[in-house]
Amino acid sequence: MRILITNDDGIHAPGLPVLEEIARQFSDDIWVCAPAEEQSGAGHSLTLNQPVRLRQYDERRFSVSGTPTDSVMMALREVMDAPPDLLLSGVNRGANLGDDITYSGTVSAAIEGALAGIKSIALSQVYRREGMGDDVPFGAAAQWGPKVIAPLLEAPFAERTLINVNFPPLPASEVKGIRVVRQGFHDYSRGSIVAGRDPRGYRYFWFGLHAIEHTLDHGTDLEAIDDGYVSVTPLQLDLTHHSALGALAERYAE
Ligand code: MN
Repeated sequence: MRILITNDDGIHAPGLPVLEEIARQFSDDIWVCAPAEEQSGAGHSLTLNQPVRLRQYDERRFSVSGTPTDSVMMALREVMDAPPDLLLSGVNRGANLGDDITYSGTVSAAIEGALAGIKSIALSQVYRREGMGDDVPFGAAAQWGPKVIAPLLEAPFAERTLINVNFPPLPASEVKGIRVVRQGFHDYSRGSIVAGRDPRGYRYFWFGLHAIEHTLDHGTDLEAIDDGYVSVTPLQLDLTHHSALGALAERYAE
């Protein structure tokens, strides 16, 4: 089995060797292609207005001067001579839960894999508070990652679907188990914006530093993490609100 690994926190991200270690439990044919710099919050963006540079570190290790989507596209179309059987994105430093997944470079890299018809899994390590920098503990992901991935290797994935996995902010021994749950939602869209002044006197704004309020709706990824479980959520790329189709069509009927 051939596995492609990427990580939106960049080629030097602390979660990348964690995921490589997980992947090595399933295969020796591991390829890494990740953004050269951190790209968290890049969503599914694609670099169109400038060239991207490919840098090679060893036979199967590359960085791309672009987004997570650029990295997967480069891996599949330029770097690898045959497509991977599995794409793993992560382990992200921080949660990708609820409504936030549309901002996520981690999930978007897996979306790019799913679009190419490759079995794709996004993996994220939740941590308790902001400001931990590179000190985010990946123990839960390291130990529970293989247990989450193994059953998925045998499972059929429908076309244009992927799996989003989050590990709770607990030592591995305190994680209670694995729950398959739906995507939750936040009560309001974003956390507050922090304003300040830079050393040259210009105003700046910084997004996403505060915890976002949410109601822990039953059966969601947010609830599973809060309860101390690994959350596993199947996602689909079809964003159509199917139940609205009929009523909307009637509004345009002659
Ligand atoms: Mn990230």
